[in-house]
Amino acid sequence: MIKLFDYLRGYLRHREEIDNAIHCVLESGQLILGPEVRAFEQEFAQYVGASDAVGSASGTDALILALRALEIGQSDEVITVANTAVATVAAIRAVGATPRFVDVSQETLLMDPALLESAITPRTRCLLPVHLFGNPVPMNVVVGIAERHGISVIEDCAQAHGACLSGRHVGTFGTIGCFSFYPTKNLGAFGDGGICVTNSRELAERMQSLRMYGFQGNAVSHREGFNSRLDELQAAILRVKLRYLDSAIQARRQVAKRYCEALQDSELVLPHEIPSAIHAYHLFVVRTRYRSRVVTSFEKAQIAFGIHYPVPIHLMPAYKHLRCSSDGLPVTERAAKEIVSLPMFPELEEAEVDIVIDVLRESIC
Ligand SMILES: *Cc1c(COP(=O)(O)O)cnc(C)c1O
Repeated sequence: MIKLFDYLRGYLRHREEIDNAIHCVLESGQLILGPEVRAFEQEFAQYVGASDAVGSASGTDALILALRALEIGQSDEVITVANTAVATVAAIRAVGATPRFVDVSQETLLMDPALLESAITPRTRCLLPVHLFGNPVPMNVVVGIAERHGISVIEDCAQAHGACLSGRHVGTFGTIGCFSFYPTKNLGAFGDGGICVTNSRELAERMQSLRMYGFQGNAVSHREGFNSRLDELQAAILRVKLRYLDSAIQARRQVAKRYCEALQDSELVLPHEIPSAIHAYHLFVVRTRYRSRVVTSFEKAQIAFGIHYPVPIHLMPAYKHLRCSSDGLPVTERAAKEIVSLPMFPELEEAEVDIVIDVLRESIC
């Protein structure tokens, strides 16, 4: 049995340090917005190269905090993609704004920047690229377009901790970068969590206030906020795991390399890294015309797989009402029928990768 993701192996590898961190918090007497959260916010900001970071209760909430801090709401439009986790669009809808979907690039299945200009309207307030699978969107192009139009950029980095472009971490190109610490993510907590990074002190202070009922140091609301905080416990665990994040990304890239070398002459379409990008391989997604055969073989061999994502957001019942261009999103819609995510996590062993490769090769030959 080979898993798609196995959090236990990661825990067991650093068990002593993690257990210590947990006990320290339990004995500290402080469980909410204390020293662990403050230290983790600083360490994470430093890791990505941003001046400020603000923890939240989830990645979805991080996106909501970012949108709220930029005062994006009703009658505003946010341009994003339909090939993403529902969370991206749920956050846009949570603040009352309207998502406008552009199609993805054929090579990467990420936001196609060539389609942005024609999607911008007088109501557009923000571009929201998603570094899906851990693969960076070409941010120089996206940011250039946003600057020309005087609009903001929020980066959805929920799958892209450790991903870089020209030596710079994703999340630092736009106005605000949003990360998730959902357990399966590249940097995973043992529960929910998220964080926003920014180089604007003013936006950071606004997000700190919004995540705590709009308070500013005392229990008086200066704006209408809500409750979305990263726990001390999760922050303490994340501080340990952050120290090993770079080596975990290296291990993911090793697994990816092994897959790519073994499968490059096959019928499969493999992940594509744009020049100067470091793909953090949260997911290793291939495309094949023979998906049903691959799926059947994986099931028979007890190899777990994923489909990220089976239904593009604009075709889901909840979001069908959102207007899309009349010809739909052809690249997104075709990809949804061909994609398969292979087992991918830092502790995956070479022998396991080789079994996946053998089963794959047999099923498509
Ligand atoms: C996981 C994820 C989110 C949301 O994160 P949660 O912590 O689960 O709320 C947002 N966007 C993308 C692309 C994700 O993969």
